[in-house]
Amino acid sequence: MGVQIRGIAASDGIAIGKAKKFQKQAGIIPKRTLGPEEAEGEWRRFLDAAASCKTQMERLIERCGPGERADILGAHLEMLQDPFFLELIENHIRQQKNAEWALQLATESIDELFSQSDDEMFRARAADLKDVSARLLRELQGIAETDLSDLKEPVIVIAKDLMPSDTATIDTGYVLGFATELGGKTSHVAIMARGLDIPALVGAGGGLYDAVKDGDQLILDGSAGVVLLSPSEQEQGEYREKLRSIERARNEAMALKDLPAVTLDGKPITIAANIGSEKEIEIAVQNGAEGVGLLRTEFLYMGGDHWPTEEEQFTAYRYVVRHAEDKPVIIRTLDIGGDKKLPYFAFDHEDNPFLGQRAIRFCLNRPDIFKTQLRAILRASAFGKALIMLPMVISPEEIERARELIDAAKAELEREGSAFDREIPVGIMIETPAAVLIADALAKKADFFSIGTNDLTQYLLAVDRGNEKIQHLYDPFHPAVLRAIRQVIEAAHAAGIWAGMCGEFASDPMAARLLLGMGLDEFSVSPASAPRLKKQIRGFDQKQAEAYANIVLSAGSAEEIRRRIQETADL
Ligand code: PEP
Ligand code: MG
Repeated sequence: MGVQIRGIAASDGIAIGKAKKFQKQAGIIPKRTLGPEEAEGEWRRFLDAAASCKTQMERLIERCGPGERADILGAHLEMLQDPFFLELIENHIRQQKNAEWALQLATESIDELFSQSDDEMFRARAADLKDVSARLLRELQGIAETDLSDLKEPVIVIAKDLMPSDTATIDTGYVLGFATELGGKTSHVAIMARGLDIPALVGAGGGLYDAVKDGDQLILDGSAGVVLLSPSEQEQGEYREKLRSIERARNEAMALKDLPAVTLDGKPITIAANIGSEKEIEIAVQNGAEGVGLLRTEFLYMGGDHWPTEEEQFTAYRYVVRHAEDKPVIIRTLDIGGDKKLPYFAFDHEDNPFLGQRAIRFCLNRPDIFKTQLRAILRASAFGKALIMLPMVISPEEIERARELIDAAKAELEREGSAFDREIPVGIMIETPAAVLIADALAKKADFFSIGTNDLTQYLLAVDRGNEKIQHLYDPFHPAVLRAIRQVIEAAHAAGIWAGMCGEFASDPMAARLLLGMGLDEFSVSPASAPRLKKQIRGFDQKQAEAYANIVLSAGSAEEIRRRIQETADL
């Protein structure tokens, strides 16, 4: 029997294959006071590590050829050889600190200088410095550099944590699945896994990473949230059979994928897809999605090493809009901040980044960056049906200011003679308690609502969506969340606009009838969930679902709500 490690089920499916450990950050920094005779040897050890980092970086520069990425690596190389940086490290080593510790102290002092600067260029240098320092630290500790974009064989990735920027560069052809020690069900890595239809487990807690060795045979059950280490022949056979039955259920749902999602009493529902990169539009179309309910544009910003230019963005958006074949594509404007950081931009320090310069706040604060994106979206709108969606809104003024910038971008394009959709709809995400409470006022300024339950749940319940220690409290079936959803849908309908949902709750099979009964017009789900949801909707009666929602929603606790849903599952 293999050893079982449990975590949070993050993305359905089963993967059977070899382990590949991935660790971007070096582990704990060892601190040791050296004997007086050791300093010289330690300084040599550091110089050797620096020399081998230099060779690695020169090779990387050669591999990527001329361009912005090579320029950035070139800047890193300069930093690596900076005399001031090296002198600080040498001084700490001569004061009898081991190399890793000396490196940490030198990095901290220079980082402080850079970070306090008003000049953005210097603050960006702080990000370069951290990158170089992390590379040196890995080298000193003998931790191999791994890159998920350059795998040579199919693997199951095992990591302490994966940053959105790591998953943005993942080579899906070779990643069979992944398991992490940290993260919750709606953390961005979990969402990304569902989008790519890769089985995943998150929040396994400490011990997973150390328990696995590169090349170990593993089974990952993303639906149950389990990893099996060194499974027996019998277990491998059982899981292969499970895989086949998942395939069968999927094929059954796929047979219906091109039929409309209409309830038994004739109410049409839109089933759209959430996608996190332009490639995923193809998966969405193959799964019968009726457009894109959420295009997370962050992939363009997080996967690269520079702010994406208007042309790069235009090319990506146009690709999605064209492949959607005249079905609507809702392009969400940049939702950066929180846990979504950029490798080439140093954010100001925030004690509470999830309550800080996120999303629309960041964009309104940086109209230059925002306008570049708006121009790209508008230009893409000439090639199909694009809609703009603003994230994290809390006030009508934010919509007004965004609309002013959209109008300014339109005027520029008009002058330049570029084509765009003059009537492009502008909707908002409902992700904050404030937006729920003033949904009536926001509905006057927005062309549609899409409820972002991932954030809405975390902000309503005051439960961090990424913290695995409190995942038991993170529950969209909490009556506070359900009542908020109903209130938002009612406010939208009273104002004559439609309400959709692009949070992960829309993909939950247990929530489908309830959301239909509450009057939700559009469900935007991970592409792989679209056929199953379509099958469900086609089996429901809208009027009965309304009565059912009233019964379920009168319950006062999540537990009671689940009980009522389970008891009425067959009705
Ligand atoms: C949400 O918050 O529900 C949402 C869809 O946005 P994201 O998960 O990207 O924060
Ligand atoms: Mg959100």
